[in-house]
Amino acid sequence: MAAGTGKPKLAVWKFASCDGCQLSVLDLEDELLELAGAVEIAYFLEASRATVEGPYDLSLVEGSVTTTADAERIRRVRAESRRLVTIGACATAGGIQALRNFADVSEFAAAVYAHPSYISTLDTSTPIADHVAVDFELHGCPVDKRQLLEVLSAFLAERRPAIPEYSVCVECKRRGNVCVTVAHGTPCLGPVTHAGCGALCPSCDRGCYGCFGPMETPNTDSLNVWMRGLGEETPDLIRAYRTFNANAPAFREASEREAER
Ligand code: SF4
Ligand code: SF4
Repeated sequence: MAAGTGKPKLAVWKFASCDGCQLSVLDLEDELLELAGAVEIAYFLEASRATVEGPYDLSLVEGSVTTTADAERIRRVRAESRRLVTIGACATAGGIQALRNFADVSEFAAAVYAHPSYISTLDTSTPIADHVAVDFELHGCPVDKRQLLEVLSAFLAERRPAIPEYSVCVECKRRGNVCVTVAHGTPCLGPVTHAGCGALCPSCDRGCYGCFGPMETPNTDSLNVWMRGLGEETPDLIRAYRTFNANAPAFREASEREAER
């Protein structure tokens, strides 16, 4: 625990991201007041310009590494942090911006920017764990605020977060949802996707599109057989795995196997 207020020092860092996961921290609302009583919010530019120097007891990191400057900065953040937790699909898998990993980033830049020569970027978007040691990865795009609270509570209590690694299907069963695939023939990535959202999309009669990334042991080959049975074709399957978690190993390998067919 850091000296000063006597409370553990919390820092929240942004890398390449949309800020949605940091907003999930702010979205804790009532709990945030309690949290502010339990920790010193020492560095959180989304919430306040006032900052306190490190070292920090716990760093939450949002976003992926897409520039050489970010690759250097995350090493400094790690050196200043006793514990480091990555939050969201960008930080844990490279995010939607990792679609560049399957293409030529200079072509993307030329299509988007009037003066692509001003853009200085790496060819890839990579998760934080590719660059420094990470103590825990919390999935989601954005992360679920109840899971975020559990992670914060666990690290403050020096215990392992109780975050289940099963699939969205389990959450559907717990909610008593009728399976959208079995009942309506709707393609759904729920069987291979990490739980955490409370089966949000299937609860609204929509298929899951995998925003929490792969579960612990996903059987994408088996799911793809089902998806083909529903009329999905190779380009549909490649697109299904190449969204927010396209670079997560299990989804990347599933899309690459489809691309090679
Ligand atoms: S994981 Fe999703 S919500 Fe979070 S910063 Fe990345 S794009 Fe935004
Ligand atoms: S059901 Fe799937 S796509 Fe929808 S919020 Fe949950 S993990 Fe994300």
